Amino acid sequence: MRAEIIAVGTELLLGQTVNTNATYISAGLAELGIDVYFQTVVGDNAARIVQAIEIARQRADLIVFTGGLGPTQDDLTKDALAGYLNRGIHIHEPSMVKIEALFSSRGIHMVESNRRQANQIEDSDPLENSAGLAVGNALLESGMHYVLLPGPPREMKPMFDGPAKAWLRSVMGEQQTLFSRLLKFAGIGESSLEQAIIDLIDSQSDPTIAPYAKEGEVAIRLSTKAVSLDEAVARLDIAQQQIKQRVGQYLFATEDIPLEEAVLRLLRVTGRRFATAESLTGGMLAELVTSLPGSSGEFVGGVVTYTNDMKHKLLGIPLAQLEGTDAPGAISESTAAMMAERVRELTDCDFGLSLTGVAGPSEAEGKPVGTVFFGIAERGKPTVVHKAMLSGNRDIIRLRSAKAILYRFWR
Ligand code: ATP
Ligand code: MG
Repeated sequence: MRAEIIAVGTELLLGQTVNTNATYISAGLAELGIDVYFQTVVGDNAARIVQAIEIARQRADLIVFTGGLGPTQDDLTKDALAGYLNRGIHIHEPSMVKIEALFSSRGIHMVESNRRQANQIEDSDPLENSAGLAVGNALLESGMHYVLLPGPPREMKPMFDGPAKAWLRSVMGEQQTLFSRLLKFAGIGESSLEQAIIDLIDSQSDPTIAPYAKEGEVAIRLSTKAVSLDEAVARLDIAQQQIKQRVGQYLFATEDIPLEEAVLRLLRVTGRRFATAESLTGGMLAELVTSLPGSSGEFVGGVVTYTNDMKHKLLGIPLAQLEGTDAPGAISESTAAMMAERVRELTDCDFGLSLTGVAGPSEAEGKPVGTVFFGIAERGKPTVVHKAMLSGNRDIIRLRSAKAILYRFWR
């Protein structure tokens, strides 16, 4: 089934309201295995709504409307569609009872226009509105499916997820549903990842393989249409295995979790804990970790030692190490090692993690922007320091640094 979403509302065209309903409905239809080919926005104008229907009919078998089911004169969707289909409009009695009961319970006079919210297009199925008054409609006419949903998201969502999806499933019968799986990678850039599997992407149509990137992490979405979960899982497993053979060392999760969550899970299994000492990231690493509920089991805390003075006072790093022409400096392998070791000792944790580097905009200690050292000190083992040259602006370098040390740590 091919679908088109028609969002009705002049406020959408004026840019006063963001068309979040279209996004929500598109995602929901994809889950049902229905392909959305077009999203249209049209104002509160009957003639133009009809124009939009005429166009959509030529390229879709399902039109989902959102908006314009309310009581006011500018709420025209039902009238426009009924007129277009030469169908009458009658009152959906249960909705009318509900509307009248609401007004009488509040003791307020009901203006006549409120009755419009109980309108139902002739020979359509009502879609219950559990969060408001306007009843939705669904109907089938010569192979075309129409679903009418209200505009306010808090009413639209429950109606779409409940009665509208149930109606769609019933008309679709035994249909293929879209199943997808997210593979998450760290330590590899989006283009390198794509390059490593480009032949799989090009040759494979089922499951489809779609890479995308968010700062510091990249992901691949595998999607397949199947009638059962078992069938889908079998196909997704094969594709996952092929990808794993190429870039398995960077794969940290096969579900939608951030890298910090994968790190915490690993530590949880072994019952180990860590602390952080951060310079250029200013606490961002601690923020990433503590944004996850329950992280106190694995993360005890950290220090932000931004200036040399603080590295000296809080972590006891000698000033001679940090300052002076012959000193290694704050941005150095040896300082990163000391920061990690000192914070581990101070907190008596299994691991100490440190970050020191140049976020920019200008170089520091004669070291170029993007130079970052990551220290990982582990109890009873030699401390490891990694160096990276990261690209991007200040914000990106800081976030990539925090993600990069999590990746080394996860490894
Ligand atoms: P009402 O009973 O509130 O009049 P309605 O079904 O007639 O409901 P509209 O009048 O079109 O819906 O929109 C009501 C409000 O819902 C809008 O002011 C807007 O805030 C929100 N809304 C409408 N359409 C969308 C949309 N496509 N995406 C997000 N919000 C929307
Ligand atoms: Mg309205």
